[in-house]
Amino acid sequence: GVEVSLRSVTRKYASAMALDEVSLDVEPGSAVALMGPSGAGKSTLLHLVGAMDPPDAGEIVVDGERVHDLSRRGLDRYRRRIGFVFQRFHLLPALSVLDNVLAPVLPRRVDFDRRARAMELLEAVGLADRASALPSRLSGGQQQRVAIARALIARPPLLLADEPTGNLDSATGHEIVDLLLTLREEHGMTMLMATHNPELAAVCDRVVRMKDGKVVSDERLTPSQDVL
Ligand code: ADP
Ligand code: ADP
Repeated sequence: GVEVSLRSVTRKYASAMALDEVSLDVEPGSAVALMGPSGAGKSTLLHLVGAMDPPDAGEIVVDGERVHDLSRRGLDRYRRRIGFVFQRFHLLPALSVLDNVLAPVLPRRVDFDRRARAMELLEAVGLADRASALPSRLSGGQQQRVAIARALIARPPLLLADEPTGNLDSATGHEIVDLLLTLREEHGMTMLMATHNPELAAVCDRVVRMKDGKVVSDERLTPSQDVL
């Protein structure tokens, strides 16, 4: 995993101060749950760390690099090292499960066997037997498993997830929490996840609560501590 640091990061929108001088240090390989009410700035924070959007002030340093100083090529390289998981899966409907998992690495030269890696990941998420199915044939939980496999195809040292269980019923959400936990143990990536799900937060190392664009609390969890 990589280290992620935000230093007095501010992001203003016309209507809102989405992030208001947020500072946060995330240790390599740790998992942080971002919690807090809707509009608190969680998605914006993920967006900025993902270099989809620049900060108005402050800096974001990932693995020793100031993200907003990167050249275009540097930014492309940077983004390719990040896995993203969204609430609404965002699978490509016309592609098979296998091709969805392969999609991020298809246009690129990679130093591993893409198909073997994709099948290995589908195995890990329990969907190897659905490799040739279209996403629409799968349940929501299965679609999120595909999205998680896709997020991991390029072996990212950083995984960003925006409400990964937000569209799932609680039993399915539970399966996804277990899956993320297992994958994290296997891959050791740093994880930043915006979530309202206390179960997901409870498997993280840390819970950072936000409100009105600010961090209002930052709590380290001991294993199996409940998050209320
Ligand atoms: P959260 O993920 O915690 O729900 P967001 O980061 O989505 O919070 O939003 C933080 C604030 O920024 C909210 O007031 C939201 O309306 C505003 N905001 C987020 N994205 C945009 C945008 N693209 N344009 C304008 N305002 C935005
Ligand atoms: P929605 O519930 O609106 O479909 P999703 O869970 O699909 O939202 O995730 C979209 C959110 O993720 C948006 O708030 C968007 O700002 C953010 N986002 C989109 N692309 C990226 C990215 N590459 N990196 C980080 N955040 C992103």
